[in-house]
Formats: sequence, C-alpha cells, structure tokens
Amino acid sequence: MAHSIFDLFKIGIGPSSSHTVGPMIAANRFIATLKQQDMLIHTTRVRIDLYGSLALTGRGHATDSACILGLMGETPSEINPDNITPYFERVKANSELILAGQRPIDFNISNDLRFNFKQTLPQHANGLQFCAYDQHHNVMLTRRYFSVGGGFVQDETEIEQAQGQSIVKLPYAYNSARELLKYCQQDQKSIAQITLDNELELGSHDITAKLLNIWQVMANCIERGIKTPGILPGSLKLKRRAYHMHQHLIDNADSNKVDSIDWLNLFAMATNEENAAGSRVVTAPTNGAAGVIPAVLAWYLKFHSDDDEKAIVEFLATAAAIGLLYHRNASISAAEVGCQGEIGVACSMAAAGLAAVMGGTPLQVENAAEIGMEHNLGLTCDPIDGLVQVPCIERNTMGALKAINASKLALQNDGSHHVHLDDVIATMHQTGLDMMSKYKETSLGGLAINVVAC
Ligand code: SF4
Repeated sequence: MAHSIFDLFKIGIGPSSSHTVGPMIAANRFIATLKQQDMLIHTTRVRIDLYGSLALTGRGHATDSACILGLMGETPSEINPDNITPYFERVKANSELILAGQRPIDFNISNDLRFNFKQTLPQHANGLQFCAYDQHHNVMLTRRYFSVGGGFVQDETEIEQAQGQSIVKLPYAYNSARELLKYCQQDQKSIAQITLDNELELGSHDITAKLLNIWQVMANCIERGIKTPGILPGSLKLKRRAYHMHQHLIDNADSNKVDSIDWLNLFAMATNEENAAGSRVVTAPTNGAAGVIPAVLAWYLKFHSDDDEKAIVEFLATAAAIGLLYHRNASISAAEVGCQGEIGVACSMAAAGLAAVMGGTPLQVENAAEIGMEHNLGLTCDPIDGLVQVPCIERNTMGALKAINASKLALQNDGSHHVHLDDVIATMHQTGLDMMSKYKETSLGGLAINVVAC
C-alpha cells in the first residue's frame, strides 16, 4: 500500500507515536466501526486490553489516557494537549466516559483497561484489543489493532495482507532505494521531485502549504520547549534543560564558547522535552525521535539557508522518501527493532534531507542516508521507567549531530560507496529481529534496569 509523506509526518501528541498516537487512532477506528454497524447506541461498556510492549511501557507512554480519549472521539491532531490530563482524571473520578462524544457509558479503569504484561499477540509486539458489550453483557464487537510504529495502525486483516501491493498507480512506483535512484537517473529528477510527483498522484493538494505547515508545527514545538522551564512529568522528576541552554547561548552569543552545534542540540532537546511533556509534536518518523529532523532543518535554516521555503519542502520530501523505505522494508517500531528504528531512521532521513538541500546528487543523498543508519545499527530501546525521557531526549541530539556528519561525509565524496542504503535497511531489520525483546521498548533491560528510577 502506498503511503504519503503525511502518513509519516503526522501532527500528534507526545510522548510516543506507537504508544500514544497509534492507540488513540486505534480507538478512533473502533468507535467508527461501532457507528458504521449501528452498535454505538447499544453499547453499555467497552473493555480495552493492552498486550506486549503496550502493556509493559504503556503507563509511562500515556497509552491508557490515549485509548480512553480516543474512545471519547478525541484525535491526536485535534486534541488540545492541555485537556488530556483533566479529561483523563474526570473519567477516573466518575468511572464514566462519553463514548464517541455522544453516549455516556460506565468505565471503571481498573476493570475495563487491562495491562496484559505477560502476553504478546503473535502478529506484533504492540497489540491492543477493544471489546464492546450491550446491556445484557453480550459481546457485540471485538477488534484487535496493532500500532506498528510512527503512529501507523493496522487491524488484523491489514497486518496479514502482503506488503507491496499499491492500490494507487504511482508515476514512480518503487520498492527499494535502487529503484528510486534508477528513476532519478532516468528522468533526471531529484529524490524530492520524485516524492512530490508521487504525492500528487496520491491525491494530496497544496503539498507545499502542507509541508510548510508541518514545519511550522515543528518550529512551534521548538519555540515552546525553549521557553518552558521546570520539571517533566513522571517519576524521574527530570529537569528541563532547553530553557537554560537557550539562556546560556544568548548570554554567550559573542564569545567563542558557543557554536552552531550548541544550537542544534538546543533544537533537538527542546522538541523532545515538549514530546515528553505530552505536548503537540510531529512524528518524524516517530515521537521518541521527533527532535532529530526538526533540529537538523532548524540548524540549516539558521546557519546556511538562502531560500527557506524551498529548503523546507526539499528537505522534508527527501527525508520522507527515505523514511518510507524503512517503513516498507524494515520497521520504524522500537518494539520490533529497537531504537535503530527511531533515532536511527530519523538520523538517516535527516542526513538525506540535509545532503539534498546542500546540493547533493541523488547518489550522495542515498549515501548520506546509508551512513546515517550504518552507525546506529544495534541501537537498543531501554527507556528508564518506561518514560520517553532517558535516554530518549539526549539521544535526539546525538542523532542530529550524526546526521550532519553523515551528510558531510557523503557530500565530500563523489557518490560512489561500498554499502548501499538497501543493504543497510535490510541489516537494520535483521539486527532488530535478532535483538532480545528486553531491548525493544519493554524497559526490561539496559539502562531501564541498571539505573534506578527515583
Ligand atoms: S530509547 Fe529510542 S526507541 Fe526507545 S523510547 Fe527512547 S527514543 Fe524511542
């Protein structure tokens, strides 16, 4: 199935695309099905079951509130992040939710929302099930969904379907980076142009305006993060750093103590502190890694750009082409492949975007993307206390810095290179499948068990 740039860059909420955005979308889909089948008016109770990684790290990733608010008809792109906690607290206090915003039903959180810590569904590590009952306690509808990374959601049928069958006939249908590069060579087009041509065929209108809007949401997120001091929510009581980093940069602007990399770190840190706070954020390609792409793009705009709009469109369209290759041929789900699939993919996408706006050829762009992943291979996911905070926030600064270096290495070469992007994508996928599950967004290994949460 062909995916759009805007499937990858989705406006949503923190702290997690697979554990917050995806479950809310799954709940939205469930109530849509209840409505289609005229069952909404007969529903008196809904039970939610979380499995695998969604159960193990669901509390720290706000999966519980996402599911409940999703059942109430709230969507990741529209909900006001400030309303999430009050709405959730009201459901807990009253043991009642307004299904689809229309129908009050009893909802006892300790009975009707179950964390199945020891059970993982066979299809995917991020599984969840909704079950609707009528007034006689009979089951009317049961649906299982899988949050497969980056806010993408599939039901049982979709996850079983063979990959690669595009319903829409694209002008440039490709399954690999090699095929993509062949089109670039054949029609003398950049990767961004190929992506935008395909996007038109997918029915997107005003693509430039939509990409500029995506950037604006990213930029607003950076801005809020820079302006907000204080402590992040959750057990770690982690102090926000972006606010103080910014003060330091301003105070030392005329000294040789700061350089552009300090700004890069600031942009990444600000974005991911906002994500950790459950604020408005763009999946890029996930929430945990949402700071890498905005940081590199903001760094480029601040220090190198002479045509911002052109750069934003080219950067994001190029990065999206690379991200969709990972989504198609590997995974962007940490529960499947570890942090390689989040920070690694974001780094690879950002490296490609930067190489493109710096004037790289398609081969150099592909090389930058390859380097960006090659040096993230094996990266595990082990968030402390299940919160998208440590190591996640700082790790975005590392991903951003690596992306710049990957782009520089590629641009200083003529495009010829030894490891192809397709091969590194396959390697990342295989490495992720071989990785022990305790290192895949379960908080059962790594830093999560060696550092005590206070
Ligand atoms: S460790 Fe990486 S993959 Fe895991 S939650 Fe943090 S950013 Fe996401």
